[in-house]
Amino acid sequence: MSFSEFINDEYKYINWIQSNPNGFVINTSKSKRLDYRVLHTADCSYVTTLQGNAQEDGFTERGYIKICSTNVESLRDWTKQEGEKNGLFTQECARCKPWEHNSYSKGIAQFDDLLTLSNIKELYEKYLALVRFEVQKLGVKPTEVRHLIGRLGEFYCALIIDGSISHVVNQHGFDVLSKTGRRISVKTTSQKTGFVAISANTLEKVDDLMILQYKNDGLHEVYFGDINKAVSAARFYANINKYELDISKAKKLL
Ligand SMILES: [Zn+2]
Repeated sequence: MSFSEFINDEYKYINWIQSNPNGFVINTSKSKRLDYRVLHTADCSYVTTLQGNAQEDGFTERGYIKICSTNVESLRDWTKQEGEKNGLFTQECARCKPWEHNSYSKGIAQFDDLLTLSNIKELYEKYLALVRFEVQKLGVKPTEVRHLIGRLGEFYCALIIDGSISHVVNQHGFDVLSKTGRRISVKTTSQKTGFVAISANTLEKVDDLMILQYKNDGLHEVYFGDINKAVSAARFYANINKYELDISKAKKLL
């Protein structure tokens, strides 16, 4: 990985873009908002000339910061490292069109492009049909098609909130990203009673929890809300660093 973060360092930033006119720049907020990470080329006027009524030092010393690299791949690494597990940008600038540059590279997770809402709806229906087929026709226990039911739950959540799905192996603890940048972990169980496990390691990377139950051949919402509220009603096991939230308790949290 080779990128430079410029925070409160106008002089070094300007020096970098002047030295690397063929490089790339992410413009984001100081808090590195997940829903505002725009990719530009290093010679784009949006990131080389202060816009509108922006004040002096507005590139890196006020609300915004810049992340720069000579290659797009490293900027994908940066955004992954900062919680966007697919290495995608929220937007690629229409003025400088980074994708037209020779050194531009597509992300590995461009599968995301395919998951428009209508595709998610289609996938949801296909997975639901598949689970029903397994359970009803083949007599498979729902717990044995856990991964299908888990995926079904993610599609359900994305449809309900009009969000997007993270597909790459779940390294950040959340499965669905809402339009406002809220990170949602989806837990889908086919057990009637019992609990869902919540890893303490991923707590700070998740905002909301959605618990779904697969029963009577469909999904039912058990809980959808702040993950901290859910955790406050859960048992903590320090030896495994996990919380266990009883489904019966989760129902009462709503
Ligand atoms: Zn641009």
